[in-house]
Amino acid sequence: MTVMDRQATSSAARHIARAIRRPAERFLGRPERLSPTPFVGQTLGPDDVRLAEKLLSEPDSYLDEHLVRRFESDFVATTGCRYAFAFRSGREALSAALQGLDLHPGDQSVLPGYTCVVVPNAFRYAGVEVVYADIEAESYGIDITDLRQKVTRDTKVILLQHLYGLVSRDYEEVLNLASERGIAVIEDCAHSTGAQQSGLSVGLRGDVAVFSSEQSKVLNTIRGGVVVTESDGIAERIAAYRDSAPQTTVDEVRAMLSGIVLGYAVLREAQHPLRAAVAELRYGRRRIDSTSPEEIRGVRPADYGRRMAGAIAALASNQLSKMPDFNAARRKNAKVWDQWCRERDLTPPFVKRDSTPVFLRYPVQVPEAMKNDPSWARRELGFDVGLWFTGTHHPVDRNTGLCPVADACVRTVINLPTLGIDASRFV
Ligand SMILES: *Cc1c(COP(=O)(O)O)cnc(C)c1O
Repeated sequence: MTVMDRQATSSAARHIARAIRRPAERFLGRPERLSPTPFVGQTLGPDDVRLAEKLLSEPDSYLDEHLVRRFESDFVATTGCRYAFAFRSGREALSAALQGLDLHPGDQSVLPGYTCVVVPNAFRYAGVEVVYADIEAESYGIDITDLRQKVTRDTKVILLQHLYGLVSRDYEEVLNLASERGIAVIEDCAHSTGAQQSGLSVGLRGDVAVFSSEQSKVLNTIRGGVVVTESDGIAERIAAYRDSAPQTTVDEVRAMLSGIVLGYAVLREAQHPLRAAVAELRYGRRRIDSTSPEEIRGVRPADYGRRMAGAIAALASNQLSKMPDFNAARRKNAKVWDQWCRERDLTPPFVKRDSTPVFLRYPVQVPEAMKNDPSWARRELGFDVGLWFTGTHHPVDRNTGLCPVADACVRTVINLPTLGIDASRFV
């Protein structure tokens, strides 16, 4: 999702200029400016940087499958799922999920009409026909009433999403409908690693679920994804698919590891611009874009469908061990944003009863003018608000048929950051 975040890339010269300006501004009593993108890289710490540097110096680790098995068991232990399989990205994990469900060309799926472009792509790559159902405007999940209208005799799978770290409002209703009609459910938990409903991790009640550790998600390994299931049969099919999937290339592993060092220096430690300049000199300025222009057009990349590399899995295990603290901090800031909303007559996001959300981002619906021209945020808050989603197939708009709520959310939903800030400054 770095299409939105490319502005964060900046030259060494800019960092040096900032290094000079910062103390001057502090001296003049001007308010400290925050990173322009408090949404990316906020879970990276010096420990991740040390680990990435160590891994960089140990090429034998890059494709070490033991590290992947260890991360997979860490994921099983953390979420309580039975089986977890790691892939190079969440979208590739989704493709593995479709393999696991034994879907065939011509089968039909129902997806929420408010999603990431890579999600319908994965279904199309598998030859599965995509139909959209509208979402509800409370937690941005697929809406049970519209879903009932869209399900047909040919529907083989429903995608249920837990967006922005919220647990989907109609979770149980969707599971019940699917079970009555003999339809499989994939839970899209790309935003919600660590979220729970009634003490159970999201992703465990559908047939299969997908998580992401892309750089803007709950865990950050630059790119990464996990597919989980409770079913022996599905697990067997996914394992076979994984074992035949090619490895991530050594070059890409190196670029991702460098990306961790760079991401920390440039984004996390914006207050140390000289460190950022040094990191850029050492590792280059190239940042990995998660979504290629061909994927935006719906074309399957030639190197699509890879498994997770060992070194990336080692980073993922480290990120996972810190997740409870980060998610608690996100919930704390979300409480403050609730108050911020009430002070402005805005509606806080819906938190389902007995759910523990993780608030990857804090979504709020604002007047269209505030989304069209978000410069008010820089003035009022000192940072840019997030604009997820900017299209029905974020970051692009596609025709999803009749999904008026999804269309309205594209026009009105902004996101407030929940990590890397202390929201209590704003109320
Ligand atoms: C990011 C995202 C994905 C895919 O995850 P990647 O790891 O980026 O491939 C799937 N669904 C949603 C809703 C996402 O935001």
